[in-house]
Amino acid sequence: MEEVVLRLKELLFPSIADVAVLSVDVNIEIVRVDAQCVADGAVCPVCGVWSNRVHGPYLRFPADVPSGGRSVVLQLRVRRFTCGNSGCARRTFVEQIPGLTRRNGQRTERLRSSLAAVGLALAGRPGARVARVLGVSVSRSTVLRLVDALPEPEIPTPRVVGVDEYATRKGRHYGTVLVDIETCRPVDLLPDREASSLAWLAERPGIEVVCRDRAPFFAEGASAGAPQAVQVADRWHLWHNLSEAAERAVAQHRRCLRALAPAAPEPEPEPAPEEEPSGSPWPTGHRFADRTRARHASVRALLEAGHSLRSVQRQLGMAWHTVKRFADAANPEDLFTGQWQNRPSVLDDYKPYLDDR
Ligand SMILES: [Zn+2]
Repeated sequence: MEEVVLRLKELLFPSIADVAVLSVDVNIEIVRVDAQCVADGAVCPVCGVWSNRVHGPYLRFPADVPSGGRSVVLQLRVRRFTCGNSGCARRTFVEQIPGLTRRNGQRTERLRSSLAAVGLALAGRPGARVARVLGVSVSRSTVLRLVDALPEPEIPTPRVVGVDEYATRKGRHYGTVLVDIETCRPVDLLPDREASSLAWLAERPGIEVVCRDRAPFFAEGASAGAPQAVQVADRWHLWHNLSEAAERAVAQHRRCLRALAPAAPEPEPEPAPEEEPSGSPWPTGHRFADRTRARHASVRALLEAGHSLRSVQRQLGMAWHTVKRFADAANPEDLFTGQWQNRPSVLDDYKPYLDDR
């Protein structure tokens, strides 16, 4: 019998010292493990003084990781000790078994970490569902609480940090997400997207490159927070802007293309004359023109409903100068002329360099 009990201890608590298994009771749904703490004494959690003065026995029933598809509950015989330190605020305390229990914990440490791992992978509701399949009945909020209680992971300061915005509440609230560009892992979420929140950068002097969205608050924040760092525009925005500009340029020079390839069949659908103002350079059914008209209509509709330019910018996810351009054009056709492209730009000084590249 002694032999069996020792082997049960090895089986059930292989890495936990100071615990002995007294018996195991298995029924259809549940396994009850009667176990006892066998340490000589315990350390007071308040003052840290060791004590072996037993005040009385104490029974706990923490849930443990399931076994063979059955739930497991420990019946844990622990003791309440009297603190021997007369200066200590705590008179008595219950012993804890390192690696197995914690104060007021209703689950063993290993069940907590298993559920936290499930929660990290799946989050609350699906995590709770999978836990039930595995034999642990737990609410979704408990799964989330266990994830929340995990210590913050130590994250080394990234050398190249990406700064962009993220939206919550269906785009009604924006925050800032910081990403380690070299490992492609998010490193932090800031609750807003103000230049001031990028003080985050100032707390991490090792940052060499800030890769960012071109919004003015990010520019300001990056200059103030990491003056030592090189700022670069992130690739997604560059590609996005380049593809839009290329499309616009090709659309504007469509007539030249037609002149060069006169034999090409005309794929263009018949324009609907009643919808087109006479002399419009762009028929409907043209992707670029239709999209411009649709965006123009959305901008104008929001402005007429009393929204500010800033609010339109936010709601439609457009750049400030795009919203301004759409707002200034009475007709979408005014946007097709290309005249706005000839105005002076901050890029002018760099154009020879950019053409070179
Ligand atoms: Zn004490």
